[in-house]
Amino acid sequence: MKLLEERIREDGLVLPGNVLKVNSFLNHQIDPELMNTIGQEFAHLFRDNNITRILTVESSGIAPAIMTGLALHVPVLFARKTKSSTMNTSLFTADVYSYTKKVTNKISVDQKFLVQTDNVLIIDDFLANGQAVSGLLEICKQADAYVEGVGIVIEKAFQTGGKLLRDQGVRLESLARISSFEDGKVNFVGD
Ligand code: 5GP
Repeated sequence: MKLLEERIREDGLVLPGNVLKVNSFLNHQIDPELMNTIGQEFAHLFRDNNITRILTVESSGIAPAIMTGLALHVPVLFARKTKSSTMNTSLFTADVYSYTKKVTNKISVDQKFLVQTDNVLIIDDFLANGQAVSGLLEICKQADAYVEGVGIVIEKAFQTGGKLLRDQGVRLESLARISSFEDGKVNFVGD
């Protein structure tokens, strides 16, 4: 998605450890118009897949996920990283190692919101080594729900997550694919 690539080039900051900071439009401040365009794009890509539910993980996945849910007219479920006091029902859970925070979180969703008849679209902000998405796939497996695919806003294609998912036969759609960081500059696949 050209618009997204331009925005990353303009506003993205490359941090040590191959981390891209996009705090001005995705990870802290959110640009609703850009998120809307992103949601429309994911909705277009998965329009023939009879998606019944979007699944993401808090917090940065929520913005693109909600715009996709709005465009597809389906509910958006986000896995929680901390157990809320109101979540006293049965849960599906998975362990996820965080690439940026270097900690393992247990993510969970209430069993009542993910069911066997669901056709799920998983959405997340970044794909690095695939841990977050693997945790969400695990949760769908526990629910016996079908995963139609995964939509990622920014894939760091030089890391292992893309291969991990494609090797499992998962349909992966990434709107921006970064091939490398070079002296603080972002290069995209196909540049
Ligand atoms: P993975 O689980 O694929 O290794 O990493 C994906 C998760 O880590 C995303 O949900 C995102 O929150 C975070 N993440 C990974 N790489 C980056 C990055 O370069 N920048 C930012 N802002 N978050 C990242």
